[in-house]
Amino acid sequence: MSQLSPSTGRTIGAEAPTGGVVPPQQAGVAVDTVTIPTPGHPSPAARVVAVSKLYGSGDAAVAALDGVTVSLASREFTAIMGPSGSGKSTLLHLLAGLDRPTSGEVFLGDTEIASLNDKTLTLLRRDRIGFVFQSFNLLPTMTAAENIVLPMRIAGRKPDAEWVASIVETVGLTRRLGHRPSELSGGQQQRVAAARALASRPEIVFADEPTGALDSTSGAELLAFLRRAVDDLGQTVVMVTHDANAASYADRVIFLADGHIVDELRAPTADGVLDYMKRLGG
Ligand code: ADP
Ligand code: MG
Repeated sequence: MSQLSPSTGRTIGAEAPTGGVVPPQQAGVAVDTVTIPTPGHPSPAARVVAVSKLYGSGDAAVAALDGVTVSLASREFTAIMGPSGSGKSTLLHLLAGLDRPTSGEVFLGDTEIASLNDKTLTLLRRDRIGFVFQSFNLLPTMTAAENIVLPMRIAGRKPDAEWVASIVETVGLTRRLGHRPSELSGGQQQRVAAARALASRPEIVFADEPTGALDSTSGAELLAFLRRAVDDLGQTVVMVTHDANAASYADRVIFLADGHIVDELRAPTADGVLDYMKRLGG
């Protein structure tokens, strides 16, 4: 849960001395109330409530998700696992506002996003959500540094240089910033893509099979980065994977089968996840 700070309702600039210059951003602007998370009871970063997603209609209808309710804690690394076709990507896309449920609610923080119009949802995605795709989707003519800040430049926002530098250092790319994607390994390219997803300091970062196109060494580098993004940078990460070893980097694994959440594991080990997946038939 979160609580509001006491609202002062004060108007800054009202008592500016005569002839004094009032900064335009302060003149006559009421002080906003600020949401302060209550220590020990952080609101979930995202959650879905009774969401279903149907594809097709009539006899051909497929329920990709069937009444799923789950909360994702802030500053946690969550993995979503399950057999092929169990609804993992559908759940991630609903959470990320890339698709809408047939029924149910989807929250990012306290905002219900499934009912937003397209334009508002697009802006919300741009400003509050990061996404890492299986294919890195980097622009080949731009350097790593340019790729990392490109979405913010397009949005007309000024990157926070200190934050971007801390991401670049955490991701181990400081000496590769001037390289173009073709001069980087697959693992390095995916780390650039992950740094790009984090550059705007989103509330939550979603990744759909981010290690799917990587060899195991590169995959381990990317996963170590996502882990450090949570531990050292306080980010919230949600990742779909079918790889038990990848899931073992997470704090929590949620298992899906046939559009339902069937179980979860905390502090997963690769062996524990593998055993569970065998039982699920994945
Ligand atoms: P996963 O990521 O776990 O492999 P998905 O979420 O992609 O599973 O898909 C869940 C189910 O929904 C599958 O049966 C899939 O065939 C179906 N599905 C997913 N996307 C579509 C779509 N665009 N049109 C029709 N069926 C779809
Ligand atoms: Mg999928």
